[in-house]
Amino acid sequence: MINGAAGIMFQEALAKARRMAPLSVHDLLALLRAQDQEAEMLFALADEMRAAFFGNEVHLRGIIEFSNYCVQNCLYCGLRRGNTELSRYRMDKEELMEVSRQAAALGFKTLVLQSGEDPRCTGAVLAEIISGIKKELDVAVTLSVGERSRADYAAFKEAGADRYLLKHETADPVLFRRLRPGATLSDRLRKLWWLKELGYQTGAGNMIGLPGQTLESIALDLILMRQVGADMAGIGPFIPHARTPLKNCRGGDFAFTLKVLAAARLALPGVHLPATTAMDAVRKDGRKKALRCGANVVMLNVTPVHYRRRYCIYPVRAVMDKEPEEQLNTFQAVLAEQGKKAGTGYGHALRLAAGNLVIARALSPWQSSPVE
Ligand code: SF4
Repeated sequence: MINGAAGIMFQEALAKARRMAPLSVHDLLALLRAQDQEAEMLFALADEMRAAFFGNEVHLRGIIEFSNYCVQNCLYCGLRRGNTELSRYRMDKEELMEVSRQAAALGFKTLVLQSGEDPRCTGAVLAEIISGIKKELDVAVTLSVGERSRADYAAFKEAGADRYLLKHETADPVLFRRLRPGATLSDRLRKLWWLKELGYQTGAGNMIGLPGQTLESIALDLILMRQVGADMAGIGPFIPHARTPLKNCRGGDFAFTLKVLAAARLALPGVHLPATTAMDAVRKDGRKKALRCGANVVMLNVTPVHYRRRYCIYPVRAVMDKEPEEQLNTFQAVLAEQGKKAGTGYGHALRLAAGNLVIARALSPWQSSPVE
């Protein structure tokens, strides 16, 4: 237990979170500094908050990594163009449709289409694929294909895309520029606003443990995600990749990343918060633990295994080779063990499912039934 001023600040921040009052940077810092018993209290409240908004449902999404080409050169990423040893691939339209059909047949109600920033996958090509999926399959489509023109984003939306993930990575503009050569945080945020304007459910997110990152900037990440009205928050540990300039850096700490997840649940109560694959890469059963600390979404990899091994943003061998059915069985068992179940709906943003987050706020925070 932290005594003195730090302990008082933690208790005050926790009380504010319980009232669902907006948390300040100072509140978030107090939560992120929690140790031992305080950390357990943080996790418990985050889990209660998850249950208040989502009941016992966890959304399972199917992710398809359809191209590992990328023109960018982010220092932390194994897909960076400077990684000349990576064998590149790009699924064609028919192949991507077939993988999508297989995922939908397994029961996934959301397909996440992810790639590097691949210029050969033009806006028109991708819009045609999205349109094909939406016409044929009963699924929501989430895109995670990086920074594009506003015209491309509009075309994807027109074609039927529902959501877009564009992680901001870090709220520190200097660190952002250092890690993503040639890119700026302000450009990234402008694109997030475009996505909002176009009617997407949007996702932002950050990495924990980046070299040069501070506790303050992580607190600011959470504030930024609230300010941009993120519907989803992808949060995971930084994992050094052997073929990147950051190969010798220390990776993000698992226990601390859990605290960031829990603080995110308190700062952004109704947000969809994935237990990211990176959690399993740094700790066996990492995603399982994340589901007890505020996370309510799991993305299962439905990319054909022979491609999946080459979609190596960071080394994550432990979960590379499992077929989708095996992953589904594993997580069904995990959810049953935790008294949860897989959601059967599309798992849209809560503000859409419930009409408005205000509805959720007006309800007793610790109701036992879900808002949806
Ligand atoms: S993080 Fe994204 S944009 Fe950057 S190199 Fe990797 S795939 Fe490309």
